[in-house]
Formats: sequence, C-alpha cells, structure tokens
Amino acid sequence: MDRLKDKVALVTGASSGIGKSIATRFAQEGAHVAVNYRPGSAKDHDAALAEVASFNATATAVEADVSKREDVERMIAQVVEKFGRLDICVNNAGIEIKRPFLEVSDDEWNKVVAVNLYGCFVVSQAAARAMVKRGGGGKLIFISSVHEDIPFPEYTAYCASKGGVRMMMRNLAMELAPYRVNCNNIAPGAIATPINQSVLEDPQAKQNAISEIPWGRFGTPEEVASVAVFLASDESEYVTGSTYYVDGGLTQQVTAY
Ligand code: NAD
Repeated sequence: MDRLKDKVALVTGASSGIGKSIATRFAQEGAHVAVNYRPGSAKDHDAALAEVASFNATATAVEADVSKREDVERMIAQVVEKFGRLDICVNNAGIEIKRPFLEVSDDEWNKVVAVNLYGCFVVSQAAARAMVKRGGGGKLIFISSVHEDIPFPEYTAYCASKGGVRMMMRNLAMELAPYRVNCNNIAPGAIATPINQSVLEDPQAKQNAISEIPWGRFGTPEEVASVAVFLASDESEYVTGSTYYVDGGLTQQVTAY
C-alpha cells in the first residue's frame, strides 16, 4: 500500500464521486493529498477531507473554482508552499448539462467548456509549470470520458469539452515528454456517482444504461481510482499520451443491426 509514498498529489473536484475516491486511494498509497473543492461545496468537502485524512493525516483542503485562473494559480501555490513540490495532478472536476443541440444557450455552452476544458488547461498548465520549475518530472492525469470519443446526443458541450481534453492531453504528452511529465487520460464509462443521480434513481433509465454495458453493471469510483494509482505511480514511467477506458466494455459496444 505504498505505491505513492511521499508523493504530493492534487485532485480537483475531490469532494464527491470519482475525485473523492482517487484522493482517498492516493492517501492510502502514502501520498500527501491536496483535496480541491469548489467554492460553495464546503459541506461535502468536510466529509471528503476527513475520509482522505483518515489514511494520511497530511491531507489538506484547497478551495478553487477550476474555471478561474486566479483561483487555480493560488491553489497550486498553496500546495507547493505546504508540501514543497507537486508530483501528481489529477484534473477531475467536471460538469454536464443536458440540452438538445437546437436549444443550447451560450451560457450553458460556456459553463461546461469553462470547467471541463479551460479548467483542465489552466490547472495542468499551472501544475506543469511548477513541475518543470522544480525538475524531476511529474504526472498529469485527466478524467475525460468515453464521450471523448462516443457521441452522446443532448450533451454536445460535454462531448466537445471531453474531446478537447483528449486532444490537449495528447499534445501535452509530446510537449512535456522532455521534462518527464507523463500525461494520460482515464475515460470512465457509466460510473455510479452524483453526476448520474437522475439515471440511478430511475429504474427504467438505469436498466437502459446497463443494457448497453457488456459487463452488465455501472462501474464504481474505486474502479476508476485503481487506474489512477497506476498512472500516478512510478510503474507508469513509459506510459504517456494514452487513454485508459474504465467502462466495462462500453466503447466496444458496436451494434451492427
Ligand atoms: P461528481 O459530480 O460527483 O464530481 C464532479 C466534481 O467536480 C464535484 O465534486 C464538483 O464539486 C466538482 N466541480 C464542478 N465544478 C467545479 C469547479 N468549477 N471547480 C472545482 N470543482 C468543480 O461526478 P463524478 O462522476 O465523480 O465526475 C468526476 C469526473 O468524471 C468529471 O470530469 C466527469 O465528467 C467524469 N466522468 C464521470 C462519469 C460517470 O459516469 N460518473 C463518466 C465519465 C466521465
């Protein structure tokens, strides 16, 4: 349980779901973890921090809206000041808005893209600058989605943002390789978290979703966190520019008739 011993990790959007599981697993593996939460989510965040800190008492909270550069730069500076460096940055924070394409407003589009794509840009840029300045490499992990690749009607902004994350990650993998900063995506399929609450609470919608998944069930946040541990650890030294699907085979589900 020491695969990340004494590494310093930041996880964005870590007060719930996948981010909370990743932060908890990282702490279990010996990392010092900065648990990011967005302004206004302090209640969820208290519970998440307590859980993470129960595995590694050095865990700390960092408030920031990832779609605001000044928040993000303050957050990265706080982490570096507290722990002396940043080794691992997980870009997990994300939102989705369901709306038919013909009805999507500028405001809805901009909100989704600001958190999911601009947020990944500004967080990974600030993190990479800190990693490169210190030397010694680092790990950038993006939580994209199977919708970096698979269309999802009525979620056009979400799909466009996740497709953008995929392309950005591949570019960064090339630009940051000389600095030994590994860049990879994890693309979850249907995972049981608050983002899917409405589907999980509707038995018919849940069954419809499950019928598309070869593995026959939703995934768990812990199953995504297991892959994040690998990508954050020294074991993934030669892995960069890749997407890891954690989707029970969903992306392979091609119906021919
Ligand atoms: P979630 O809603 O529990 O987690 C999203 C987190 O992002 C929340 O903690 C939220 O507070 C945080 N967040 C939102 N806006 C923010 C902002 N501006 N600044 C900082 N934090 C912010 O849902 P989740 O499923 O755990 O989602 C985590 C990531 O996984 C997202 O990027 C999501 O797109 C991706 N994902 C989830 C699934 C799934 O089925 N659950 C599938 C594919 C991809």
